[in-house]
Amino acid sequence: VKRPGEIVSKGHKNYNLMLNLQLGIRHSIQKEASIFRAIEPSDFNPNRKCWTRFPPEGSQITPPHQSGEFRWKDYCPVVFRQLRKQFQVDPADYMSAICGDKTLRELSSPGKSGSFFYLTQDDKFIIKTVKLSEVKVLLRMLPNYYRHVSQYENSLVTKFYGVHCVKPIGGPKTRFIVMGNLLFSEYPIHRRFDLKGSSYGRTTAKTGEEVDETTTLKDLDLNFAFRLQRSWFKDFIKQIDHDCEFLEAEGIMDYSLLVGLHFRDDNTWDKRGLSPFLLRTGSQDSYQVEKFRRGNRFLEAELQDRDRVKSGRLGANMPARAECMAQKSGFDQYNRVGISHFTPHPSGETHDVVLYYGIIDILQDYDISKKLEHAYKSWQVDPSSISAVNPKSYSKRFRDFVGRIFIEDR
Ligand code: ATP
Ligand code: CA
Ligand code: CA
Repeated sequence: VKRPGEIVSKGHKNYNLMLNLQLGIRHSIQKEASIFRAIEPSDFNPNRKCWTRFPPEGSQITPPHQSGEFRWKDYCPVVFRQLRKQFQVDPADYMSAICGDKTLRELSSPGKSGSFFYLTQDDKFIIKTVKLSEVKVLLRMLPNYYRHVSQYENSLVTKFYGVHCVKPIGGPKTRFIVMGNLLFSEYPIHRRFDLKGSSYGRTTAKTGEEVDETTTLKDLDLNFAFRLQRSWFKDFIKQIDHDCEFLEAEGIMDYSLLVGLHFRDDNTWDKRGLSPFLLRTGSQDSYQVEKFRRGNRFLEAELQDRDRVKSGRLGANMPARAECMAQKSGFDQYNRVGISHFTPHPSGETHDVVLYYGIIDILQDYDISKKLEHAYKSWQVDPSSISAVNPKSYSKRFRDFVGRIFIEDR
């Protein structure tokens, strides 16, 4: 049974980093528990220094620990505490998910940027190491981000829960952000797509390569359009517009719409030789898997759950219908993706799905390196197909793309 990532246990090259991170977060949450005042403008000041020293033997405010001495920094802790509250993250749950006995899982570098990703045991949170430039972008946009997510409860932009830095004595600084896992779901996710609306280099699947639930597919791998109920569709497009306007105003580009798909109507996964579902711990999820194993009865059980799914929220648990885009790419979504396994769908094929999605990777501004990337690639291919374009063009192309792959049920 496949779960993404590798457990970070003793001997793992990032084991100490993980320990430091757990000690640091525990310390921060406990410290913040005693702050009762409301948030103030000065809480957004990025230059407020709050470094804490963690000697191995412990200190008055820090416990003894087994890794070498390190320093720990929280960025704008009062703002993030307030954001977690707004996002309805319980401090005790947050702390135990990250700092509990069970260890984190390191995802095998899903992006090109060189960031590391860690998933908490309960799958609710993702920790991503980031560059200094990304921290700067986040701190710069923080007041507007705070305003935006407060104004739009259903905003699809990544939920940020904290930004921190670890500095071991004599070692380099590691900065990281804690965010919500968009694909945390009560239904197993069968396919995941990272979509930007650009085409150049936007495919994951190589010829004959096995694709499974943990593969992140891209724009060119998608041959479905999603049909949404009218009211969902309207709310969804409105929210995408608000979110893109926000990102554009902040000078951000290179973000993606991450989409996770749960096929409700398909009991043929086994027959098609796919690996079994992502098995999670916890009774409810194993129940889902159990239902699936019972073959056809899975469908009946699922049908009864339908009304419950209808009460979903924008971005999580949204019912939809995935329709094959008439042989747009000719890739077979189910089996293997690639020319050698060319199996076009009969057009008109539809599936009931539950969608999970949100906008991720929102900390890249259009800086000199992205301008150079654009200039360089423009020599080779159509400039509008390149992911690196200015924020205004980026947002327009992104919205146009979303308008093509999501359609309104009439
Ligand atoms: P690059 O800049 O090369 O695109 P990156 O290192 O900045 O890569 P991201 O784009 O942030 O990485 O994320 C890479 C992948 O990790 C995504 O495609 C997605 O599968 C997963 N991922 C990232 N953030 C989240 C999140 N908040 N929830 C769920 N999955 C996520
Ligand atoms: Ca990305
Ligand atoms: Ca990135």
